[in-house]
Formats: sequence, structure tokens, C-alpha cells
Amino acid sequence: SRQFTRPLNDLANQFNTLLSAIAGAERVFEILDEKEEEQGDEASIELQDLRGRVEFQDVSFSYETGGDTVREISFTANVGESIALVGPTGAGKTTLINLLSRFYDNDSGTILIDGINSKKIKRDSLRRHMGFVLQDSYLFQGTIRENIRYGRLDATDDEVEAAAKMANAHSFISKLKDGYETVLKQDGSGISQGQKQLISIARAILADPALLILDEATSSIDTITELKIQEALQRLMKGRTSFVIAHRLNTIQRADQILVLQNGRIIERGLHESLLSEKGFYHSLFHGQLKDQIS
Ligand code: ADP
Repeated sequence: SRQFTRPLNDLANQFNTLLSAIAGAERVFEILDEKEEEQGDEASIELQDLRGRVEFQDVSFSYETGGDTVREISFTANVGESIALVGPTGAGKTTLINLLSRFYDNDSGTILIDGINSKKIKRDSLRRHMGFVLQDSYLFQGTIRENIRYGRLDATDDEVEAAAKMANAHSFISKLKDGYETVLKQDGSGISQGQKQLISIARAILADPALLILDEATSSIDTITELKIQEALQRLMKGRTSFVIAHRLNTIQRADQILVLQNGRIIERGLHESLLSEKGFYHSLFHGQLKDQIS
């Protein structure tokens, strides 16, 4: 018998975990608990098929601790577009994602998802259409197969392996002595950081969400794995609306829109070349850090 319980049949757990990965765990749990209860009757819509159009209209928000954290954010992400969020630490990138995912609700303005006010959409229903690939890829104690299958619990073994192939994870998994039955340890030892990311990409591919949230790793990953990750992410992003907290020039250059944030505002937007030619904040960001970390 097993010494631990696996969260496989507890989808809510997934969102808590993702949440804790997105922001500091404890304070967010508290807020989530409160807010889920507050949700009341307003949020009644179950999203069936989501196409993935996202529109922010004058969205502002502050955490309970202080002044406005994001201010008057407006943009439209069309179906299938990738949006790179760029800016220094504390600029509000994570907060914007927290609002989109309804881990918090905006104080003013409107967030429309496929034209529906997101506050009217049930949280769990919204998040079922969202996939997350975050810096600290969350893997639980269990086999690699189980960890990938967590993306869609009724997936067959073939589907799990097909997702792993698309995610460039299959080849390293096949080389492990126990292959897909390799048990991942709670402390994450045994496989590399980059391999964990490939597994979490496989999980997201299996889940097949319309909306993707990607938080690019800042930690160094060997070049070959990094290329595999980049390629897998491109496959994952294809046809989905993606929001990328971007640290890599490569990703930023491929984005359909770059939103440059500073102090909670979008201060510049556009594509790489035109942003550079504006010689503004993006330009200085580029010359300050981005330029040196080309993958
Ligand atoms: P970024 O992702 O661009 O680094 P964040 O969205 O994490 O920026 O943070 C924006 C601002 O909000 C920062 O000043 C940060 O300290 C603050 N902040 C982030 N999360 C919380 C929170 N849960 N409670 C209070 N303040 C927060």
C-alpha cells in the first residue's frame, strides 16, 4: 500500500498548486479561500469551448497591502496569438497573469474572455481551459507517466507517449531504466530541471488548453535541453493564445505582441524591431540584459 496520497483525482489541487507556483503560496491560499466564497452568484457561466480571445479594458488592481499594482491595462490578444510580457521584477507581469487566471479579481476595468466578462465565468471552468508551464514545474511524487497524465486523467498510455514525443521528452524518458514508470521523488531529485520542464510541457500538450501561461525559466539549463524546450514550447503554443512572462530574446522576437510593463503600466507595445527603434524603455532593457542572454 502507498504511503502517500496522489492528487490525481483532485483537480482543484492542481489549481492550488499552480497558484502556489505563480505566487507565494500561503498568502495566496488565504485570499483564494476568501475569494472563492465571495464569488457568489455572479460567476455562473460554464465555459464550453473556449477559442481564446482575451481582452483587458482599463484593468486596475491593487493587493490588499497597498497602492495600485497594475493600472489601466488594456490590450487584446486574438485567438492563437502569443503575447510576451516584458519588464523588470515588480513591474506587474505576474499580477496580470493572476488576474487573467482569476486568482485575483480586478478592482476596476473589465477582462473579457471570448467576449464574456471573466467575473461571470466560474473559476474552475475557466482554468480547465488554461495550461500552465511555470519556472518551478510542479511534479508530484509518482511515475513520469502519472505526472504527464495529470494533464488529462482519461488519456491512454499511447496518448501520454504521443504528448511526450511532441514535448521532446520521450527520448530522455526512454533512456531511463524504468522509462515511463520511473518514480519521481518529492524533492525532485533524479532528473534535471530542464527535463522537468519537458514533462510539464508534455502534460500541457495532453491537456490541450486554449489559453496558455508560460513563465520562462531564468535558471540556466544546458544548451541542448534549452533548445528542446524552445522547440517543444513552439509546438505547444501553436494555435493557442499564450501569455509568456518572457526572459528570452528568442521568445520575445517570436511573439505576436510584446507588452512592456513598468510600475504596473504598459509603457510600450509592439514588435521587437519597432520597439527597439523607439529607443525607449525596451531599448534600454534590451541593451541592459536581453541582448546578452540569447539562447
Ligand atoms: P513581476 O511579475 O513583473 O515581477 P509582480 O506582479 O509579481 O511583478 O509584482 C508587482 C507588484 O506587486 C510588486 O510591487 C510586488 O511586490 C507586488 N505583489 C506581488 N504579489 C503580491 C501579493 N500577493 N501581495 C502583495 N503585493 C504583491
